[in-house]
Amino acid sequence: SPDPEPIPDQPPAKRLAGDVGVVVDHYNTRPDVGVAQRETSPIIGLKSFNNWVKSVLISRFAHPALTTSKLVGRARGRGPPPRGRVLDMGCGKGGDLTKWGKARAAEVLAVDIAAVSVDQARSRWQTMGGNKFDATFAALDCYTEPLSKAFSPAKLAKPFDVVSMQFCMHYAFESIQKARCMLENVSKWLRPGGTFIGTIPNADQLLENLAGVSPDAPDLTFGNDVYKIRFEDRTHTPLFGHKYWFYLQDAVENVPEYVVKWDNFVQMAAEYGLHVVYKEEFHDVFSEHREHAEFGPLMVKMKVVDANGESAMDEDQWEAANIYIAFAFEKR
Ligand code: SAM
Repeated sequence: SPDPEPIPDQPPAKRLAGDVGVVVDHYNTRPDVGVAQRETSPIIGLKSFNNWVKSVLISRFAHPALTTSKLVGRARGRGPPPRGRVLDMGCGKGGDLTKWGKARAAEVLAVDIAAVSVDQARSRWQTMGGNKFDATFAALDCYTEPLSKAFSPAKLAKPFDVVSMQFCMHYAFESIQKARCMLENVSKWLRPGGTFIGTIPNADQLLENLAGVSPDAPDLTFGNDVYKIRFEDRTHTPLFGHKYWFYLQDAVENVPEYVVKWDNFVQMAAEYGLHVVYKEEFHDVFSEHREHAEFGPLMVKMKVVDANGESAMDEDQWEAANIYIAFAFEKR
């Protein structure tokens, strides 16, 4: 008799319809290249810089030991620093896991809509030794589903000290419903005094550049060899669903994204008890911290600059870097 059909581990994933399907397919099909090949990326300087900004953000605002010590009123330096719980929403392939280890996380819950990326993040954690901190990984559309669908009540019983959304929150601004679902997921399990950190494209920059596109141009594209952004409409600028197409060399192949209007975001976040404590363009994060005792040398270690202070980014990468802003909110 013929061999029986092998039973697949999982049912084949159904392709999601609409823009979210394009986003998921894109991130699921991008290979996890590993550290060695990553070094050969033509935009390695920019990638290193983005990682350095995230490290600064985590160390300054989201170090679980820092925020927990505030909560229990424990003086720093007395006894071992406490360790915290982190929710990494839109974790991708787990690019921040090492950072969470360094930030003394006790436990990380990591979630992303792209199931293949989630598997890669889990493998990365396992190869890290897996014993630095506990971690649980799950696939979930965090902008349409509650976190409780991905994690058991036991996993959510203790609140998070930190919620992190790196380079991913803007996908929620497709609609007000998605943005609210995202904020509910951020806030619901974050303890008072805990921090919400993230990185998103800078709406002011995007809209200024859009306004600068010549009326004679064939389409509403601006950028350079490293990044390109194409809007579909010059005049229609809704608060939600203000779409553009994003290309970033060796990283993002024309994916639909949405403008996050900062004041609107801040106003909505306040409804969820989240209050802004930091907002800075990436260029200013750089100038603010380049001389810093910890973050200056870290820049050399992370190969953002060489020992002589020479940048690893060319002008196009430096311009692309400043599309983004970094932020931190505190839950009150
Ligand atoms: N945070 C990671 C990092 O900094 O390396 C990954 C950033 S990647 C540019 C954006 C991530 O957002 C992708 O992994 C994508 O799958 C995720 N994402 C987009 N929409 C999402 C959603 N609705 N729910 C959860 N994750 C989502």
